[in-house]
This record gives sequence, structure tokens and C-alpha cells, in this order.
Amino acid sequence: QPVTEEPSALAPPAAKPKSAVFYRHLRLDFPAIVRGEGSYLILDDGRRILDASGGAAVACIGHSDARVGEAIMSQIKSASYCATLLYTSTVCEQLCRLLVDSTNGQMARAYIVCSGSEAMEASLKLARQYFLEKTQPEPQRTHFIARHQSYHGNTLGALAVGGHKSRRLPYEPILSTNVSHVSPCYAYRGKKAGESDAEYVVRLADELDAEFQRVGPEKVCAFVAEPVVGGALGAVPSVPGYFKAIQAVCRKYGALFICDEVMCGMGRTGSLHAWQQEEGVFPDIQTYGKCLGGGYQPIAGILASHEIIDTISKGSGAFVTGHTYQGHPVSCAAALAVQHIVAEENLLANVSELGPYLGELLTKRLGDHPYVGDIRGRGFFWGIELVEDKATARPFPPKANVAMEIIDLGLKGADYSVALYPGSGTADGVSGDHVILAPMFNASRAEIETIAD
Ligand code: PLP
Repeated sequence: QPVTEEPSALAPPAAKPKSAVFYRHLRLDFPAIVRGEGSYLILDDGRRILDASGGAAVACIGHSDARVGEAIMSQIKSASYCATLLYTSTVCEQLCRLLVDSTNGQMARAYIVCSGSEAMEASLKLARQYFLEKTQPEPQRTHFIARHQSYHGNTLGALAVGGHKSRRLPYEPILSTNVSHVSPCYAYRGKKAGESDAEYVVRLADELDAEFQRVGPEKVCAFVAEPVVGGALGAVPSVPGYFKAIQAVCRKYGALFICDEVMCGMGRTGSLHAWQQEEGVFPDIQTYGKCLGGGYQPIAGILASHEIIDTISKGSGAFVTGHTYQGHPVSCAAALAVQHIVAEENLLANVSELGPYLGELLTKRLGDHPYVGDIRGRGFFWGIELVEDKATARPFPPKANVAMEIIDLGLKGADYSVALYPGSGTADGVSGDHVILAPMFNASRAEIETIAD
């Protein structure tokens, strides 16, 4: 397998200048990406990396597809910006129509922003506004229930619903107190010995029911969860029947169900929306992000149900939020081009066909490894959980930074260079380190085999 490219062809700078950027890690010297080619990234030191995670499960049709580039340029030449207080744009209308039509009539309208965090903020605000307008003059549904070890974005409202203790900790005093958390559906660590899936589902639904009772059912605005948990736990699908049971609890108490599909949505798990694989489950509000634009432009958004849109249309008539770059026409053009490629090339069939094959290969190669506790996933979204002790599922101490070590080894491989996505375990040992694999939707069988190798 050729994995390096002649450095001379890339003309790297003689001495790398000190970075002017500041990301999360100020002391690390990151390699720079010179260009992308389909499933590969080419770095300034000549390395050719097989991108097995598309960053944080973002890139999905491959890097640097000229067709998306043309769509972006053509949009810039025709209409480069749209002030959404006064206008809509044809391209945003087309994208939102495509999104609404993809929900089998469940959702009424779509709203486009620049990031998953903004999408989560919009979901929380929309849920609050819905109840404000529905229950006037005495609005009291102000409480959100989410799940432990969850991540729903990095802005303060999104962090407030998130259940990731270490990410919340530095901001705790300014995060909302109207949030509480219940257990996630995390079979590897959550299911008791000898417990069936059905028994586990009943136990989790009972826990949610009890939390509604504790808070006061009339105070709960919405329950927030990811259908397949991404970065916080490492590609964890729920057991069959979980979301149906959870939805039933929400409906029983008149609360909304907000489905966060920023990471697992837009085809990543084999259907355009991950909730479409949960029988009888229909969210009231849904977020989407990463694979909508496949990384070509910053774009994300939400879909809202008919009931919510009708209530606000008949009430104030306006969704009270907004951002300068919402519904950006160039981002919409990029996302439309990506979605047309996904549809025209029938890429979700490839995800559905090769996804289980990737799972099989990982299990064959790594299932017996003493440091691999669990391998789980759906479609092209797989997580490998790493443990210090396989028998007891004891995680590595977080300071060992095991996931990051593996990512590093992948990038420096002598025979292969492969990019994976890391996730650290929690300090209290409730979840372990993991590595996420999220190949391009058009990855070939041979690329899937190389990734597993
Ligand atoms: N929700 C989930 C489930 C995510 O995985 C993420 C990002 O990883 C977000 C929200 C926030 O999205 P963004 O990073 O685009 O703000």
C-alpha cells in the first residue's frame, strides 16, 4: 500500500513557521493539510492519510469534490448573501424543502444555521417558545431532561443540557439549573448481568418517568437525546424499543422529544435521519449538522413538527431567535450539492451494505484484544471502547490519554496512515476511552478493509 507522496511534489516550506492559530491544544504542533482527495488527506510533510472518520464524522462524500466547488462558486456569482429578516433565498428554500420532504410528512419546516451548537440552542428556544405560546397566560414548562455523559454542543445553552461533567465544570455557575439528567441507553455498561433488552428498556423508561415525577410533569418542556450517541460515548446505538418507550413517557406528560442528530444524522447510520430506524419514533424537533454539508461549508439546522409550527404561526407568528449568517445561500448551495450527490449516487445503500461488514471486520480483528471492551455502531458510525481490564470493563485512567495515543499511532503508522476520531472516558470511570470510525459514504470495500487492518 503506497502511503506517502513525494514531498518534492508538494513543495513544503523549508522551515515551518510558528502557528498563528489557537485551537484547544496550544502546545501541540499540528500538521497542516495541503489538500484532500476523496477519502485521503495530504499533509505538508508529504503524508497521505486515509481519513476514516471525516474529522468528527463530518466529511461524507470525500474531500475536495469539484462538483461541490462549482456549486459554491456558482452561488457566489448569483447571490452571495441573504438578510433573512427581509428575504429568503431560492437555494435555502430548495434545501429546506428537501429536508422537510425527507421526513415522511413528520416535520413542517426547517431552519438553517452555521453549527450544531446553534442548532441545539434553536431547538431549546423553540421548545420553550412553543409552550409559552400554547399555555398562555401561565407558562411553566421550563425544565429540560437530558442524559448523563451526553454532549449537545459547546455554547452555554447546549452545554447546559449536556450531561458531560468535565465539559460543564468550568462554566457551571452560569449554566441553567432547569436541567436534569437520566441514564443513557448504554448497554455495554448500563445493562445488568442477565437483563434482557426489554427489561433494560423498561428500567430506563421507569427512570425517566420517575424524573418527570420528581421535577413535576407539568414543568418539563422537553427530553433531549441522540439516537446514536456520538462523541460523548463513542457511536452507541440504543437497544431496540428504547426510543419508543422514552417517547411514550414524553407523550404521557405532554413534553416534547428533541432528537439531536448533529453527529449521527444525514445518512451517517444508513438512513437520512437516524430516528427513521427507530420503529414508531417521531421527534417533535430534530437537529442535524455535520453530514448535511459534508464539511464543505459550516451548516446545520433544525426541523420542527407541524404542531409546533402551527402553534407559533397562530400565536406570535415569529420564531424569536436569529443569527447574521442563518440560511446562508452559499452554505445552502454546498449542502444541496452534497445531498444531490448522496442521492444520485445512492450512497446510503453503500453505507447500509458495507456498515455491517465494517463491524464484522473490526470484531474479527479486535474483538479478542485484551484492551478492547466493546465494538458497537450502526451504518458508517462505529466506536471501539478501550478498557484496562476486559473482565471488569474497568476503563483506563483518563490521564493515560489512551484514545489520543491510538489516534497518534494511526497517523504515524509505518504501513498505513489512518485518521480516526478520539473520545476520552469520564474521570469517574462511568465511560471509557473510545475511538470512532466514520468512513466516507462512498468508501469502497477495499478502503473499508484497509481501515479495519
Ligand atoms: N450535538 C452533537 C450530538 C454533536 O456531536 C455536536 C458536535 O460534535 C454538536 C451538537 C455541536 O455541533 P458543533 O460542533 O457544530 O457546534
